[in-house]
Amino acid sequence: MRYWRWLGAGLLVALFSACRTIDLPAMDPSLPSLHVEDLLAPTASSATREIDRLNKALPRIPRHQREQRAAVVLRIAVLQTRRGNLRDAERLVRRSIGGHPSSRPRAIGLAWFVQHRIDMARDRPVAARGALESAARYTFGPAARRRIASARAALTPRVVRPAPTKSTTPVAIVRRGSWGSAAARPRAMVPMEAPDRITVHHSAMWTSPDLVTTCKLVRSFQRYHMNQLGWGDIGYHYLIDRTGKVIEGRELRWQGAHAGDGIANQRNIGICLLGNFQPGTKERVQRPSTKQLYSLELLVTSLSDMHGIPVASVFTHAEVHPKGPGATKCPGMYLTPFVRQLRSRGTQ
Ligand SMILES: [Zn+2]
Repeated sequence: MRYWRWLGAGLLVALFSACRTIDLPAMDPSLPSLHVEDLLAPTASSATREIDRLNKALPRIPRHQREQRAAVVLRIAVLQTRRGNLRDAERLVRRSIGGHPSSRPRAIGLAWFVQHRIDMARDRPVAARGALESAARYTFGPAARRRIASARAALTPRVVRPAPTKSTTPVAIVRRGSWGSAAARPRAMVPMEAPDRITVHHSAMWTSPDLVTTCKLVRSFQRYHMNQLGWGDIGYHYLIDRTGKVIEGRELRWQGAHAGDGIANQRNIGICLLGNFQPGTKERVQRPSTKQLYSLELLVTSLSDMHGIPVASVFTHAEVHPKGPGATKCPGMYLTPFVRQLRSRGTQ
């Protein structure tokens, strides 16, 4: 009997010392574990407070608990991405990607997954796709595989939706060729998934009504978006000039670049009304012209018919812009009420 007792105690000691050398999962339940759902969980308090708490906890985690340390670092990176601190987030991720891949494939795989979210937030779909491929090479576990599969699907061309039932759009559109558009770079864009919302912008620049100015302006937007920002084409799908002409921007088969980040742009049609509708800025202010508002309403109704988008899903840029720095008043005080009114008609 006594021998059994000693043997039991011996086993316990052996187990205890074994556990101390194994890289254990989260010991502290308030810290995230190295699982994708934990890393992406919504914030219980505020992101800033959680970042503070995790930064304080990090030095107290023993060195040998490498998975726990990696989980905390990656969680901070996810929170920094949400706050729009992409540079900080990227620095943390890079730290996690380095090192010996064979010893901690899960940490590296998840680090690449977080990197993909940073690339999406930067509106770099091509880089995001590459990061996902790297994540898929490392990450295991069904939840992570599911997350990667759905993120991949969002970045992969879809079967084109059946042709719209209405044969003609009631809105006359100035096609790309007519305003002298440059050729788009498809490799720098992602295909648009079936659109389910519309976002309205203003160009935030005082604009005159003549067509020559309009075409020149649209070309300059395209140049800026492609050459300075590195996008595949002009960011908006449509623009409306002061005389109410609807101008074709980025083709609808490509996801736009107008709402703030790759996630806000998903399934989102971007319409920009030319003019500055926000008083109190350095730029000369004007009100949207009646013809512009009329065209906006026609275009929204027609897009909502063609793509089955509820009119209740028409938003201002300020409403869809990701939380954090870079908040915007777009499309300005003089256009925002009209967009809200348009939307409320859809909810009646
Ligand atoms: Zn805007």
